[in-house]
Amino acid sequence: MKFRNFKLVGYVVYGRGCFNHLDEILSPHRKNGLPMVFLVDHFFEGKELTNQIPLRDNDVVLFADVTTEPKTVYVDELASRLKQEYGSVSGVIGIGGGSTLDLAKAVSLMMNNPGSSADYQGWDLVKLPGVYKVGIPTLSGTGAEVSRTTVLTGPTKKLGMNSDFTPFDQIVLDPELTREAPVNQRFYTGMDCYIHCIESLEGTFLNEFSKSYGEKALELCRMVFVEKDRWDEESDDQLMMASYAGGMSIAYSQVGVAHAVSYGLSYLLGTKHGIGNCIVMDHLEEFYPAGVREFKYMVEKNRIDIPRGICGGLTDEQFDKMIDVSLGMKPLWENALGKNWESQMTRSRLRTLYEKL
Ligand code: NAD
Ligand code: ZN
Repeated sequence: MKFRNFKLVGYVVYGRGCFNHLDEILSPHRKNGLPMVFLVDHFFEGKELTNQIPLRDNDVVLFADVTTEPKTVYVDELASRLKQEYGSVSGVIGIGGGSTLDLAKAVSLMMNNPGSSADYQGWDLVKLPGVYKVGIPTLSGTGAEVSRTTVLTGPTKKLGMNSDFTPFDQIVLDPELTREAPVNQRFYTGMDCYIHCIESLEGTFLNEFSKSYGEKALELCRMVFVEKDRWDEESDDQLMMASYAGGMSIAYSQVGVAHAVSYGLSYLLGTKHGIGNCIVMDHLEEFYPAGVREFKYMVEKNRIDIPRGICGGLTDEQFDKMIDVSLGMKPLWENALGKNWESQMTRSRLRTLYEKL
């Protein structure tokens, strides 16, 4: 049994309209003369939400470009810009999907740690706490709001800044903020949560802690994507809690095959996390038979398009690169297949799987 002593988020507020309390939440954390920096998903540029941000004095709103998933160069650029202009800041508040939340965590850390964020991609490499940081999700599913990592693509690897300093000091879970999410995006990000649950619950690292959260998150995902015939306010409420609980579940276990394979796609082809997981999950009957059956049912019921044939025409070299990246995710494979995973997941078996996608 591998024990984990993990750091959790400091403060949590949940409920419709809780975003309106942001000013009072931030107040005690304002430092003389130093701005609060609101890093806002570019989707909200010109939207009503931006007008509701409680700006004071020299506060700053920056729109995060999340056309691609966060890169270390982008984090470094944002942090050095803020350092140059203000020396330091009172806090960084990320408002957006998983990409914006990860950017906010990383920028907060890089305000106080020297060098490049690429130097900290790995486990427990971050040595100093970041500035005060707040996460406010506008999509539900990744669990980035509760996790101790921030996934970044760097010059040599795609890996998180995984540390005790990474979790947010405060999260604001207001389901109203997810209301405008487009049907497909909501599904892809929601399925990230569903897949976290299946991988955690079917994994060898499972314990009662993970199971308790994983089962609850799975139940909520089912209420939203299996039982209901149409999306309603309650669906936003439920999916936001599913994301939180799903994140808590993998905090004490690990993800599995869909994530390990999807990381290869994302590294080579830039496939985004949510949709990449869906593309892979569609072909994982041999690993998660019941989960994949239900996944396919949800795809059909919610009339979602899952791309196919994305690996057609790739060269041997490209397949090899994806296989290398994927097999490098050792804890994921060990969770999924057990200690002797290497003898089960051979390169040729993985190649066959990639060829199907
Ligand atoms: P995302 O943040 O990449 O956003 C996807 C798209 O949705 C973007 O175009 C964005 O502008 C838009 N968007 C965001 N909120 C919206 C809203 N309310 N209405 C309409 N559009 C909106 O998507 P995601 O699936 O939430 O996050 C994926 C990212 O999260 C990846 O970068 C992945 O690596 C990361 N991730 C991190 C963790 C972690 O533990 N840190 C876990 C899982 C995934
Ligand atoms: Zn995920």
